[in-house]
Amino acid sequence: KLIVLGSVNADHVLQVPSFPRPGETLHGHNYQVIPGGKGANQAVAASRLKADIGFIASIGDDAFGKRILEQYADDGIDISGISVQTGSPTGMAMIQVSGTGENSICLSAEANTGLTSEVVDIQHEKISHAECLLMQLETPIDGVVSAAGLASMSGTAVVLNPAPARTLPDELLTCIDIITPNETEAEQLTGITVSDETSAASAASYLHNKGIGTVLITLGANGVYASQQGQGKIIPGFSVDVVDTTAAGDTFNGALVTGLIEGMDFDKAVLFANAAAAISVTRLGAQTSIPTRDEVEAFLSQ
Ligand code: ADP
Repeated sequence: KLIVLGSVNADHVLQVPSFPRPGETLHGHNYQVIPGGKGANQAVAASRLKADIGFIASIGDDAFGKRILEQYADDGIDISGISVQTGSPTGMAMIQVSGTGENSICLSAEANTGLTSEVVDIQHEKISHAECLLMQLETPIDGVVSAAGLASMSGTAVVLNPAPARTLPDELLTCIDIITPNETEAEQLTGITVSDETSAASAASYLHNKGIGTVLITLGANGVYASQQGQGKIIPGFSVDVVDTTAAGDTFNGALVTGLIEGMDFDKAVLFANAAAAISVTRLGAQTSIPTRDEVEAFLSQ
């Protein structure tokens, strides 16, 4: 079983002609409230791709929180690890998407701040019995550190998508089996600007030296720099028409771990993840853009 631990957000999405400058007012269109949050997106990606998945999260006792719990259950996600914070709204994000598919995001963590190490410790059995624990950094770092420690003590593989970018304590780095930064996050973690294969290799070797066996640096449309124990290469992405890149990285991560726990070999799991993420960028929104297993298989057999 896969456990995803992470954030839940209501994404308030507006399509804009360009990003407004300070003091400027622009007209957007197509306002939608779309289920998001990096943790939730990765959990939903894994469940649509047919992984056996449980989600550990903290939501508010508002209308969005109630609706989203029902939706996760319908998506086949085990929701028994989700706690509800009385009197708090669910996390939220204000997202603007430009005509070229770029986004600009402002977050408020709200109930996500409730996913502390105390709350994570209550879920220790779920974590220690899992094959794999997938996390990101939109919830309190002490909870992430605590979960990683519990997992690595029990032989549960730890996959960290270190997003949004921040520095990480060494006690967390030493527990990680697979890390999946994008270029910005790789630079934040290593101090190395990732712009080509050579710089990606340097950033990967920095992370290998911290004790992380597998480093996957996602390169947007260019795919991924994948490095295992210092053997690295680029695995190219798929060329598609971009509508909105929100949740591309999340879809990639959910798909990657789904492939790996199914027993796909490493390169095949990365290809599967590139395909799932490529489909997601052709659609608007976070969870609205995540493909099903059938869609990914049809895409790969084209
Ligand atoms: P993030 O969304 O976290 O910033 P990336 O932009 O690196 O991460 O994208 C993650 C993955 O999504 C890439 O490795 C690739 O597989 C896929 N992807 C992202 N953008 C595109 C794109 N424009 N075309 C095709 N695939 C994409």
